[in-house]
Amino acid sequence: MSPTIYAALVDSLFQNPAPMFAGAVTAAIAAVLTAVKTGDQFLWPCALLLIAIGAIRTLDMRKYSQRTSPLTADEAARWEVRYQIGAMLYAVALGIWCIVALLGSDDPVAHMICTSVTLGYMAAGAGRTYGRPWIFHLQILLACGSLSVALTLHGNFYYICLAFLNVLFFIGLKHITTSLQKIFVRALIAREREAAIAGQFDTALNNMPHGLCMFAADGRLAVMNNRFSEMMGLYGDFVRRRAHALEIVTGCVSTGGVSESSAKLILSEIENAKAGEIVSVSPSLTDGRAMSWTFQPMADGGSVVLVEDITERRNAEAKITHLARYDELTGLPNRVNFRDEIERLLAASRGSTLSSALHFIDLDQFKQVNDTLGHPCGDRLLCMVADRLREMLRPDDFIARFGGDEFVVFQQNIDSNEDAASLARRIVDRLSERYEIDRHLVEIGASIGIAMTWPGVSADVLLKNADMALYRAKADGRGTFCFFHEEMAQTVEARRILELDLRRALANEEFELFYQPLVNLKSGRITTCEALLRWNHPERGTVSPVDIIPVAEDMGLIIDLGRWILRKACMECMKWPAGVSVAVNFSSQQFHQRDVLSEVRYALEVSGLPAHRLEIEITESSLLRNTQWTHDALAQLKAAGVRISLDDFGTGYSSLSYLHNFPLNKVKIDRSFLEGIDTDRPLTLLRGVARLSADLGMSVVVEGIETNEQLELISADGTVTEAQGYLFSRPVPAARVRQLLDASHGRRLPEGNLLTLPSRSMA
Ligand code: C2E
Ligand code: MG
Ligand code: MG
Repeated sequence: MSPTIYAALVDSLFQNPAPMFAGAVTAAIAAVLTAVKTGDQFLWPCALLLIAIGAIRTLDMRKYSQRTSPLTADEAARWEVRYQIGAMLYAVALGIWCIVALLGSDDPVAHMICTSVTLGYMAAGAGRTYGRPWIFHLQILLACGSLSVALTLHGNFYYICLAFLNVLFFIGLKHITTSLQKIFVRALIAREREAAIAGQFDTALNNMPHGLCMFAADGRLAVMNNRFSEMMGLYGDFVRRRAHALEIVTGCVSTGGVSESSAKLILSEIENAKAGEIVSVSPSLTDGRAMSWTFQPMADGGSVVLVEDITERRNAEAKITHLARYDELTGLPNRVNFRDEIERLLAASRGSTLSSALHFIDLDQFKQVNDTLGHPCGDRLLCMVADRLREMLRPDDFIARFGGDEFVVFQQNIDSNEDAASLARRIVDRLSERYEIDRHLVEIGASIGIAMTWPGVSADVLLKNADMALYRAKADGRGTFCFFHEEMAQTVEARRILELDLRRALANEEFELFYQPLVNLKSGRITTCEALLRWNHPERGTVSPVDIIPVAEDMGLIIDLGRWILRKACMECMKWPAGVSVAVNFSSQQFHQRDVLSEVRYALEVSGLPAHRLEIEITESSLLRNTQWTHDALAQLKAAGVRISLDDFGTGYSSLSYLHNFPLNKVKIDRSFLEGIDTDRPLTLLRGVARLSADLGMSVVVEGIETNEQLELISADGTVTEAQGYLFSRPVPAARVRQLLDASHGRRLPEGNLLTLPSRSMA
């Protein structure tokens, strides 16, 4: 049994002090009456005893009722003992009185009085002591047991019958008290459970993040939690007073929790008792917090009102929306935002005679700033660019950052292309002015592609056109602007088709390798043949590798294409005389792939070609980036036995330091050196480079020899070791080069050959 139920049971013993007092007084008077009627002097002490014990018990009851704190289990145990002692003593006193009255006299009135009073007292006791039935049962045993014994000992047959009937009556009373106690305990348990549930509900209600009010069908408040009071700044005993919804809502208005207009809506929702939701903004409570009010009708006609503080959520949503539509760094609208806005502006300008221009701006040399000064400086620079652009534009114009170093300006309502050109010119000039970032002076440029609007154009088409124009502006040397023209779209489309064709060509092995000999000027023999890519397209005809390689690089196709060329060239070389090598061109991107070394090793392995018969031709652009990595890769290739040629020397930076720093075997001087070779200067230059390369231990090749005069001039001082050019042979198919090699090495020139070495060299 739980302590609270036990305490409640003990408490029930002390619940009826008045009837107990009345019973004690009745018994005392009855005892006095029996004493007076019989004149039996022993009955007077009995009367006194009953009066004394009755008085003490009544006082004890009073004392109990004066307690202020709730009854604890320990206290209950003490009070139970006190009650029990009183009850026992009283029962004993009643029993003695009955024995004395019944056995000490033959007065039937006295007998009737003591019997009826004792029975009546016991019957009343059943209604008081059911909480602790065992106390009552002891009382019965002591008081009524004595009565029955005394009746039996009296000896009269009817008295004995009455004693027997008494016993039956007592047994009945015992059962009644036992079942009363069970009912009482059950009720107590149910009450305890309800109290626990109510407590939990209360805790949940007052700890929920939402404010909650429940209004009964008559619009009066039934429940309000603490959170609601806090949110609305509304404090008072509204629930106890069953305040009306009008009073609560008016209270919220007066504390500034809701505005008057919101209050009206809230009140009508409560009155209508329908499901609904409104959002209110508190007018004065701190910082205009937003509250969401949800109304839910109840089955009995009342309604539940839930209030949620949605300020943070709304702020977060606003922030997310901002992040989704604005560039975090510069605060400018982003691509998505810009597209939507342009779409809107284009729709709004329908029917206007004025046109607009879209400027696609790309910063030149921004990457270098990022790479050299670091990203934080790059970020600062972008912010400064954004500021300069903002300052230059009219309120009508719309600007956005498209990511990276790309900005877009929509210049609205202009009369002619000249207005757009003038703005683009000013933007290029302004953005090219110096920037000072962390005491660094930074200079960048800008290229701009411009697309003019026309009726019905979409934002996407406009952006695409401006992008194409930008591409052209950059190709035109940067730091300039370019308008979109229809042929640009055709170029882009042609390029797209070329890309598709290239992919298919690689998959279908439509490519072919031609070979062009390099001839040793002393021996007149072919030492090496350079593999040159050829693509015979059914419609395009023969496509130059100059057109193929950059596109393949852009597409990332160069790795697969390069692998095919390398393997094919190595396998072809295996068919040539042992002294002849093959030269394979490596584009910069192909050379910088991580596993270039394993690619080369694998090609040599599958073809069986000795490494010294493979020459890899790289251009200066390959040496420009990743210097340490490049150096290591070249060293490893050289260590593997492969020879390295520097192709097209003289077209790029022509840095002499490359010749010195990198492990190169051969330098191929570009044919542009031969232009104007008959004048002194280029020849001197060519001879100087050739001598320097030869001094550094490299063999020297001159490309593009077309005439005997050119050959004479370059071979005069003996520093140039090899020559390549149409004079000896154009690039020819594999089968043809095999014939040339047979001729060159077996000295049997096939009919119609182009290998025309001067007799001095052939000798
Ligand atoms: P390159 O490596 O300098 O190849 C020499 C180019 O000069 C070839 O053009 C060749 O036909 C041309 N040529 C040779 N002798 C003469 C001459 O006497 N007069 C004139 N006017 N031209 C001559 P091609 O085959 O059109 O190749 C052009 C460039 O394309 C090559 O320059 C090379 O950089 C690249 N290329 C060619 N095949 C491949 C390849 O398989 N892979 C890579 N990555 N690039 C290749
Ligand atoms: Mg080459
Ligand atoms: Mg070349």
